[in-house]
Amino acid sequence: MEQNNSLDYTLEKFSELLLKTSDIIIDRYQNLDTAKAYSGLTPQKVELWFNEPVPENGLDANLLLDQVKEKVIDTATLNIGTNMYAYVMTGGTQVSVLSEMLVAAINQNVGKWHLAPVMSELEKRVVQWGSQFIGYDSSAGGVLVSGGSAANLTGLTVARNVMFEKYDIRKQGLFGLKPFTVYASDETHGCIDKSIELLGIGTDNYKKVNSLDDFTIDLHALENQIKQDIQDGKRPFCIIGNAGTVNTGAIDPLDKLAALAHKYDMWFHIDGAYGGLAASLKSLHDRFKGLDLADSVAIDFHKWLYQPFEAGCTLVKNWSDLNRTFYKRAAYLDSDSKTDNRFDFNEHHFQLSRSAKALKIWMSFKAYGASAIRSCIHKDIRLTKYLAETIEKSIDFELCNHPDLSVVCFRYIANDRSLSQSLIDELNKKIIPELEADGRVFITGTTLNNRPVVRACLINHRLQKENVDFLLKVIREIVVKIKNQLKVID
Ligand SMILES: *Cc1c(COP(=O)(O)O)cnc(C)c1O
Repeated sequence: MEQNNSLDYTLEKFSELLLKTSDIIIDRYQNLDTAKAYSGLTPQKVELWFNEPVPENGLDANLLLDQVKEKVIDTATLNIGTNMYAYVMTGGTQVSVLSEMLVAAINQNVGKWHLAPVMSELEKRVVQWGSQFIGYDSSAGGVLVSGGSAANLTGLTVARNVMFEKYDIRKQGLFGLKPFTVYASDETHGCIDKSIELLGIGTDNYKKVNSLDDFTIDLHALENQIKQDIQDGKRPFCIIGNAGTVNTGAIDPLDKLAALAHKYDMWFHIDGAYGGLAASLKSLHDRFKGLDLADSVAIDFHKWLYQPFEAGCTLVKNWSDLNRTFYKRAAYLDSDSKTDNRFDFNEHHFQLSRSAKALKIWMSFKAYGASAIRSCIHKDIRLTKYLAETIEKSIDFELCNHPDLSVVCFRYIANDRSLSQSLIDELNKKIIPELEADGRVFITGTTLNNRPVVRACLINHRLQKENVDFLLKVIREIVVKIKNQLKVID
């Protein structure tokens, strides 16, 4: 630290450190195709690296950056690379690397308009852009949140508070109300369970409706369940539609769900965390029909807008719904005269202090344009279909879903069909940890129809056909290794 009684370096030194940081970044971006996707580190080893008490004295920032490069940057799970297929991990954009650094430099708090005038307006703008991009509602409101989980929780909180406003739910809580029920398919993301629990609805009142062979919700079963619940004295209150399930990318029939919600006077929420942004593609307009009818939609800019974490978004039909849900007066927040109609985000969301997530989104839209982003989404889907077709044509793998979006699930089934189902299950379960240990590609699995499958999610603007070929090559090598371990001969 310099001798000026603050934590600042001289501007000259700060500038040197910024340059060094940029060198570290450039170095990391050199070999995104060939670098290991996974480090193979163990918790014990990493824990030891950082096992020290609070450092009493500072370390020279140059040395510190060297350590950070070696231990943090160069070992990072390569979400930014082209061998990442796990969960829903996108590559991030370079423009967002710039914006995140700039955002940290000015340290804006987007809780109150006058603390971050431009960031507040940019957030309103990117919320509207997001809505426009997916064809939701040009007058929709919304708020940026940490991710899809928070976006769904926020949407469902609005649903609950607005639907039960006449019972003064914000004051009285749920006490005295008859149980109200929520509906979604059994392929729905686990964050909805968490939301249902947090909102005091209770998972007994969350009805998971069977899905069909294509993993979309069974509408017939849904309506029967609603009727049954009414008969049982419950108040059906919300239907959640999936605009891209996390397991297979299945898109529920959103228009039909909207009609049912309307028929039974229910809120219609869409979980579009994974797939919502793909509604921007003309070729998929039909599949997303009814998205514009939702009362609220969760989308995730850190998924198909390729943003670095975190960047989720809740869209609602009216901005005022957010205010009706979250506004709380606090004396110390209310001292500015708001005669100019300033929009304070804390009055429209649970959080008070908020990071400026809008700049990276705004800069990405500006730098690349919506059309280039759509092209990359389209490329992800094309590459997924290519992978699905390759698997379907192969004799050693079985395709487990027909992807509309960019998730494809498959199983190794051996060449000669002589292996028992339980041995096949065992093989497929071993593939994931073996691939993790190998580290060249990073992929995870899931369970479909009660069987373990390998699940590839292709959501990275850097991805090319050669990378997809490499994935299958590595998996085949790993399968040979596992078969040797298990002494399987086929
Ligand atoms: C990723 C995802 C979520 C959760 O989003 P996070 O950003 O990880 O919190 C919810 N629903 C679906 C369908 C998702 O794909």
